[in-house]
Amino acid sequence: MIVLPEKVKYIIETLEENGYEAYAVGGCVRDCILGRTPMDWDITTSALPEQVKKVFHRTIDTGIEHGTVTVMLQKEGFEVTTYRVDGDYEDGRHPKEVTFTASLIEDLKRRDFTINAMAYNERVGLVDEFDGRGDIERKLIKCVGNAKERFSEDALRMMRAVRFAAQLGFEIDEDTKNAIKNMADGLRRVSAERIQVELTKLLVSDHPEELRTLYETGLTKVMLPEFDLLMETEQNTPHHCYNVGEHTIHAVCKIRAEKILRLSMLLHDISKPECRTTDCDGRDHFKGHPAKGAKKAEEILRRLKYDNDTIKKVTRYVKYHDDKPNADKISVRRTISRIGEEYYPDIFEVFLADRLAQSEYKRKEKLKYVEEYKKIYEEIMRENDCLKISDLALNGNDLMGLGIQKGPKIGETLKKLLDYVLENPKKNTREELVDYMNTFLGE
Ligand code: ATP
Ligand code: MG
Repeated sequence: MIVLPEKVKYIIETLEENGYEAYAVGGCVRDCILGRTPMDWDITTSALPEQVKKVFHRTIDTGIEHGTVTVMLQKEGFEVTTYRVDGDYEDGRHPKEVTFTASLIEDLKRRDFTINAMAYNERVGLVDEFDGRGDIERKLIKCVGNAKERFSEDALRMMRAVRFAAQLGFEIDEDTKNAIKNMADGLRRVSAERIQVELTKLLVSDHPEELRTLYETGLTKVMLPEFDLLMETEQNTPHHCYNVGEHTIHAVCKIRAEKILRLSMLLHDISKPECRTTDCDGRDHFKGHPAKGAKKAEEILRRLKYDNDTIKKVTRYVKYHDDKPNADKISVRRTISRIGEEYYPDIFEVFLADRLAQSEYKRKEKLKYVEEYKKIYEEIMRENDCLKISDLALNGNDLMGLGIQKGPKIGETLKKLLDYVLENPKKNTREELVDYMNTFLGE
């Protein structure tokens, strides 16, 4: 059932030949039993880091103070970690101390969930002290040992529980879930970087609707309180059938499993609560929420320490998620130019996911509009129309050659030329542009 790759077998056997114990452990064993292909193979051993380094030719000190050495075989690296018992997690972040142990079972005990606490090698077979296999069959995420204790040692494990539920389509064991509800506040002590990793994995998983579990257990209240507001904001309008939070969850589920797109849907309506007004007919409006939302999204993503590229793209999608140009070529050309060609065609997925998470009201018309818009976009792309200043048949140097003074005038003129060409794509030739310039330059 578990087939170790040749290189993993080699590492384990080499350690054994030198008198040590060694096993594949954690995620790779879990994934094999699930019939999934493991992302990477971690090895756990009784050998101390210095001993591992003596046995193999090429090693890298990846985290030697935590007992981890990377063994290099050809171009591939394998993390080999000494059996260890973690000390108290003082601040819920870093283990205060790492103590090595001679016992595999002690090492398995410190791991987060039963499904992650199995080890395997060919000599011994599966070591499954905490019935991880049973929990895989029952589709359960369950702490090893006392859930409350485990979460007080490392509060990130609460996010991990929900993340694994989302990746595997598992339930969280009742006891473990209750412990999360009790201990959620402890997540405050965990660094934004670690939280971000788990949030992203949850979002791009097969079950991003587990966001709801983050909310129900009180975890979003700590790491994304803005989401709690969404869950508390009703939308009394024929366009919607859910509150803003539920609409958001549905929208996340409707879009492709890709980080930027999933984050964009998570945050697309983030400013609806503060933008909500109710008219005299009792109908809700959310004027200005995309622009406000882009600012808030940026604030949130910075707080969660996302990289600049992610922040730039997600805020762009948030800002324009509700942008609806007329379905004609000039309007669409202007819109692509304003939003940025690089956000197309993915932005159509944002438009669709948003609409598919709304009520059935005018659904057909809404989808037809997006389809038309996309067709026009494709036509514009096929025709290779000029959409940005760098596509113009004249550049700044050309303008100076034509006698325009260096300085702001150059930029202003280029902008005017672009506006002209967006309306008249055939006119993007040197001659036509010079003609056009003569109509306004003498002014
Ligand atoms: P994946 O790599 O697919 O996200 P994984 O199970 O390999 O899943 P890692 O974060 O790579 O997860 O961790 C490897 C193993 O280390 C886990 O299977 C688990 O046994 C243990 N582990 C990781 N993080 C923790 C933690 N915070 N507390 C306790 N054990 C942990
Ligand atoms: Mg892993």
